[in-house]
Amino acid sequence: MADNLLKRYLFASDFDQTLTFNDSGYVLAELVGIPTAEFERKAKGMAKLNLVQQGAELAYLLLHDPEFRARVRKEHLHEVGQRIRLKENIALLYRVLNEGIDGYQFEFYVLSAAPVEVIQSALEGMVPADHIYGTEFRYTAGGEIESIVRATAGYGKVAVLDQLQAELQIGPDHIVYSGDGSSDVHVMLHVNARDGFTIAVSEAKLVSQVASRTVLSRSAVAVLVPIFEDIVHWDRLRIRQFFESYGLLIQEWDRVRTDWLTLRPALVDAGSAPGSPVKKVPGDLTLQ
Ligand SMILES: [Mg+2]
Repeated sequence: MADNLLKRYLFASDFDQTLTFNDSGYVLAELVGIPTAEFERKAKGMAKLNLVQQGAELAYLLLHDPEFRARVRKEHLHEVGQRIRLKENIALLYRVLNEGIDGYQFEFYVLSAAPVEVIQSALEGMVPADHIYGTEFRYTAGGEIESIVRATAGYGKVAVLDQLQAELQIGPDHIVYSGDGSSDVHVMLHVNARDGFTIAVSEAKLVSQVASRTVLSRSAVAVLVPIFEDIVHWDRLRIRQFFESYGLLIQEWDRVRTDWLTLRPALVDAGSAPGSPVKKVPGDLTLQ
C-alpha cells in the first residue's frame, strides 16, 4: 500500500552554467560596456581574497566596484536575463519533475548567487517566480543598487535550502541538488551528509568529486538520467522510452568512470626511474 503513496522530493538547481551556458556576470559586463577581461580580472581577484562566499563576487562588485556601481541599474539585470543563453528544455524539465514521473513529485527550485532579477527574467514562463531564489538587492528610487538584502552564494545556499525543506516538509534524504561550480560545494556537502542526492553538471574537479553523479549535456533534462537511475530505479531502455515519449531521442550516451589521480615520484634509491606525473580521465556521463 505504501507503494501507492506519492514520493515527494525537493529538486534544487543552480542557475549560472547549470541552466545556462555562461555566467550572468559576463553578460552584464558586456551589456554595460565593461570589457569581459576586466570583469574576469576583478571577479578572480575577489575570489582569491576569500572575502565573500564563493559565487558572490558579482554581488560584491555590483555594490562596491565604482565602475559597476555607476553603470548598473535594475533594468540591466532584467535585460541580462533576456540575453543569457539558456540550456535546452528547461520548461520540460520543470514539467516532468513536477508531474511527469509516476509515483514521484519533485518540487523544482532555483538557488543561485546571480541577481534574482536576472534569473526571474530568464526563466519567465518556465519556472514560477516564487520558486527562484537569487541574490536580492535594495534599490534607490533611480534604480541604483543601494545594499544587499541576501546573497544566495556558498553557505547562503544551505540556509535557503534548509528554509525550503522546512516549509515544504520534505525529509533531508529527499533532496536533490544540481550545480556546476565551486559555489555549489558547500550545499552539496550539506545535502550529501544528510543522505540527499547531488548532481554535478560540469567536470570542475571540486564539484564532480563531491557530487553523487556527474552528467554533461547541452540539455537541461539530462539531469533526469541520474534521477531515473538512482532514485526512480529505471533501466536504460525505460529511460530512453521516456525521453522518446517527449519527442527527444538520446543520440549519444557515453559513460566513463572518473578517477582523479595525482602521482608524484616516490622517494626511491638513486638510479630508479621517477613515477609519471598527472593522470586525469574526464567524464562520467555525456548526453548530446
Ligand atoms: Mg553555477
